[in-house]
Amino acid sequence: MGTWKIGSPRTPAERTSQIESLKRGLELGMTLVDTAEFYADGESERLVGEAIKGRRDSVFVATKVWPTNLHHDDVLAACDRSLKRLGISFADLYQIHWPNPRIPIRETMGAMQELVTAGKVRHIGVSNFSIEETKKAQEALGRTELASNQVEYSLVNRSIESGLLQFCQKERITVIAYSPLGRGSLPALSIPESILTKYRMTRAQVALNWVTWKQGVVAIPKSATKEHTEENAVSLSTRLSERDYDTISRSAG
Ligand code: NAP
Repeated sequence: MGTWKIGSPRTPAERTSQIESLKRGLELGMTLVDTAEFYADGESERLVGEAIKGRRDSVFVATKVWPTNLHHDDVLAACDRSLKRLGISFADLYQIHWPNPRIPIRETMGAMQELVTAGKVRHIGVSNFSIEETKKAQEALGRTELASNQVEYSLVNRSIESGLLQFCQKERITVIAYSPLGRGSLPALSIPESILTKYRMTRAQVALNWVTWKQGVVAIPKSATKEHTEENAVSLSTRLSERDYDTISRSAG
């Protein structure tokens, strides 16, 4: 589950509904929760912290450090702040939110490895990194494996198919597909009606099934409503056939 734009509710009722939506997703098995220090200026992490309270063991918590905090000491301090807001002692995945060419990647990754050694982070990831940037990140980590690259991927944005996706698959770096529903612009997700009818799935469910069809790709749809969360949670209960996957791919262009 994604959490961008979660954490700045307009009313207390909206806040409760956002927490309930996350809790419902966890109950239904959507156990990867992605947040960032940047989202709602830390409030998103606080809200995730409330949603996972009492069930830490069954949740995979992913958060991110903002590109202005990539100097060694800043990474360590940012991680501590995130863990505090989340109310946890370690993050399952700590990601560099965006590359920052002004700060040497070796310096940042040195700090990331210290966080792993200190038990504050289990896996190290990046986000919005190109092939070249991903290679440099991996090199900077030496023998420690780079776990993931979080990038935009959906039926309306397939740019990673021109190389980054294949590179990550080859290097066994998980692709975490953000904005997998095209940021909610569902009518723009070009899916033939015949496929929706055949699988008895909604447009959002087929879109999520399509995004995660390829090996090594997971998706983090955001939903602030229980109804959407419930809909998304069962989207992988059936797998699209290869033929239908190809048909959707062709119609999306
Ligand atoms: P998204 O998940 O593609 O779309 C979210 C929108 O789709 C929301 O408006 C949501 O509405 C709606 N929606 C969700 N489920 C639906 C359903 N079943 N039927 C109809 N509408 C549905 O877009 P996103 O939030 O941009 O991306 C997801 C996550 O990726 C973010 O939350 C964030 O964690 C991550 N992200 C990362 C980066 C990065 O730079 N690393 C950038 C962007 C996003 P409701 O909320 O009303 O349910």
